[in-house]
Amino acid sequence: MSTFVRILVAIGLLVVCAATALLGVWSPADAKLWEMRFAAADRAPSADIVFVDIDADSLTAIGTWPWPRSLHAQMLDSLMALGAYEVAFDIDFSARSRPAEDAAFARSLEDAGGYAYLAAFRQRTASGADSWSRPLPEFQAHAKEALVNVDGLKAGLIWSLPGWDASTGLPSIAARFNSDEVLPASLRIDYGINLNRIVSVSAKALLNNAVDPALVEGKQVIIGTSAIELHDLLMAPRFGVLPGAMVQVAAAETLRLGRALIDLGPWPSLVLAALLLLGSTLLPKLKLDRAIGIVLTSSLAVEGLSFGLYALLALQMETAPYHALAASLLIIRLIDERVVRRRELRRQHARLFYLANHDEQTGALSQRAWIDAAERWIGQNRLAGALLIRVEQAENAGASLGFHLADEAIRQFYNRLHAAVLGPVARLESQVFAVGLDVLLTGGELSVLIEGLEQPYAIEGHRIALKVRWGSAAFEHGKSAVLLLQEARTALAMARRKHLGGSAYAADFEIQFQRRRQVDLALRSAIARNELDLAFQLQVETHTRKVVGVEALLRWQSAELGWVSPGEFIPLAEESGSIVQLGNWVAHEACRRAVESGWTGRLSINIAPAQFVASDVVAMVQSALESGFPANRLDVEITEGIVAGGHLSIVETLERLRAIGVSIAIDDFGTGHSSLSYLASLPIDKIKIDQSFVRQMHTARGAEVIKTIAALGKALALSIIVEGVETEGELAILGDLDCDLVQGFLFGKPGPLPTDGAGQTQAA
Ligand code: C2E
Ligand code: MG
Ligand code: MG
Repeated sequence: MSTFVRILVAIGLLVVCAATALLGVWSPADAKLWEMRFAAADRAPSADIVFVDIDADSLTAIGTWPWPRSLHAQMLDSLMALGAYEVAFDIDFSARSRPAEDAAFARSLEDAGGYAYLAAFRQRTASGADSWSRPLPEFQAHAKEALVNVDGLKAGLIWSLPGWDASTGLPSIAARFNSDEVLPASLRIDYGINLNRIVSVSAKALLNNAVDPALVEGKQVIIGTSAIELHDLLMAPRFGVLPGAMVQVAAAETLRLGRALIDLGPWPSLVLAALLLLGSTLLPKLKLDRAIGIVLTSSLAVEGLSFGLYALLALQMETAPYHALAASLLIIRLIDERVVRRRELRRQHARLFYLANHDEQTGALSQRAWIDAAERWIGQNRLAGALLIRVEQAENAGASLGFHLADEAIRQFYNRLHAAVLGPVARLESQVFAVGLDVLLTGGELSVLIEGLEQPYAIEGHRIALKVRWGSAAFEHGKSAVLLLQEARTALAMARRKHLGGSAYAADFEIQFQRRRQVDLALRSAIARNELDLAFQLQVETHTRKVVGVEALLRWQSAELGWVSPGEFIPLAEESGSIVQLGNWVAHEACRRAVESGWTGRLSINIAPAQFVASDVVAMVQSALESGFPANRLDVEITEGIVAGGHLSIVETLERLRAIGVSIAIDDFGTGHSSLSYLASLPIDKIKIDQSFVRQMHTARGAEVIKTIAALGKALALSIIVEGVETEGELAILGDLDCDLVQGFLFGKPGPLPTDGAGQTQAA
């Protein structure tokens, strides 16, 4: 709840609380509380006041009512004879009875010498006028009147009686009995005084002279009736049904003990309630259990205060309004708590829903949500295609700059992508995003998009460049979003395989990938099934055409797939790692066969980059040389890329190979992207110029490249071999360009190892 709402609620509560308190809504509850307080206080009466009870038994003994006045006279005489101090009759003497009886009573009153009081009371007639019931004049001549009215009816209970009659000034019995006390207009009775302990004497016993004088001597006596048939019964707090006369006794005792209560009404309670409200509104919100504790404690404290004021100062304060307000505060708090919890729950649900449908880091859709969105588009005929974009270099950036920068780069990347396209964007993997397209992008549009994404990202002072690769698939009627996504994935994988910037899905991609899986699977058992073989390609001196070496080339005749070209299975073996086993087999087999056939020339074997990374090439070569083939006739061909990086551990491996006498040749030279400058610093012996240069040799530029490389090689004391020589013309040009060796179909297809040794044969 906002503070404003809380204040409004607080004011509303206070108004309701005050209104209900003033309307007496809480009176029954307060009555119950007061009954408890009275019972808890439980004071002893003064014992100065005695009740003479015309009880049911006394009525039965006499048999008639009203009693002959002579009986009242007799009771008065007896009491006076027993030494009673004063006697008050709570009995109606306003009507005449038999003259003799009235005379007898008047005589007794006269004898009492002014120490007898007779009841006078005001009644309201049916017409609404006041009518007084007052003792007969002849009685009044000897006895004063005493008011016996009660008032202060609240919650059906008698709380007070008038100290005197306001219009006539007639004092109550309590006032008559306590003439020296200060008299309040309304005398609130302290029911804490235990009325059960008031000395009560039966009228019958009194008439029979059977009363112990000690009970009456020096006491003030009130005569009244408890007989139900006489209908002088009232409801009082704590004691329930009381004879009217007993209420007079209670009032007289209250005054005697100086306990006339002062009614404070609901106001103190309301003030305290206002303070509680103020606290709960303005102070910081407490935890529920603490709030409950504090409110309950405050209620107890208010209860204690009320009891203390009553017990010590005779002040009567209502507390029910306070408790009611405290309870409603708690209820509101509980409701509030539930509302807050429900809101919290709803928020959590929303969050969960969001997380289920989004990538938390970037805010991109999840794959599931993307598919849903794409399906909706399909339903609206909007979907034209899917574009997958893979960020290729963020991981490297992470390794060198810290992962939070890479994460931030990905976030910004997503923002750029999201801003650049219209359709739904999802993050499928940490590096892969999918975009739904409503129009297929043209090549130009795609380039603009990719270029935009590859613009460096400025993050914390760094400029991070990301490289991306894409795969796309076009939607066709009948395709599902899932299938479309799958096709885009396939296109992306194909682009990756082919080292392309991206590719659009074509139907034969699936076939290619299936073929790949088949080749990969079959290759794993190729060695065990003895399906591998070696072909040897001659290496020939350019000028003399003498065969000086051979390159061992792997051949595979698969039982299931038939002949598979190394151009197909070697890259696959490099990816899957099986190249380590294959390379090992080639090295051993080539050396073994060379030794076996008495080959006296050089032997070249190809070693793939993956072998350097994943195995101990030196140990492998040494093991192959155990066949007896001399190390100084062995060439190891490596690709340009692997040394161009200047990777220290690979350079070290090459040095160790050279240390045991093996020569190193750089295969396919010129196809890598590296500069020539690294050549000088590398442990190599031979450069093998790639056949693509031979194909371009008929152009001036192609010839120039070969010439330059050959010259550079010579300058570095490296020997030069050119591969892919197919014609005599090519051979002639290469001879002029100062290339030592050549290799190519001009001298035959790769085949079995020549049996007559090297140097003997002149290649055809
Ligand atoms: P490479 O090492 O550059 O081998 C030369 C490739 O060019 C061979 O293809 C060979 O048959 C072909 N070739 C030779 N002369 C000519 C020519 O005059 N014209 C044309 N058009 N091609 C010619 P191959 O045997 O299909 O091997 C392809 C590639 O497979 C090799 O290229 C090599 O990188 C890899 N490879 C072959 N055997 C192995 C091996 O045992 N281990 C490793 N790691 N790679 C191997
Ligand atoms: Mg080679
Ligand atoms: Mg080559």
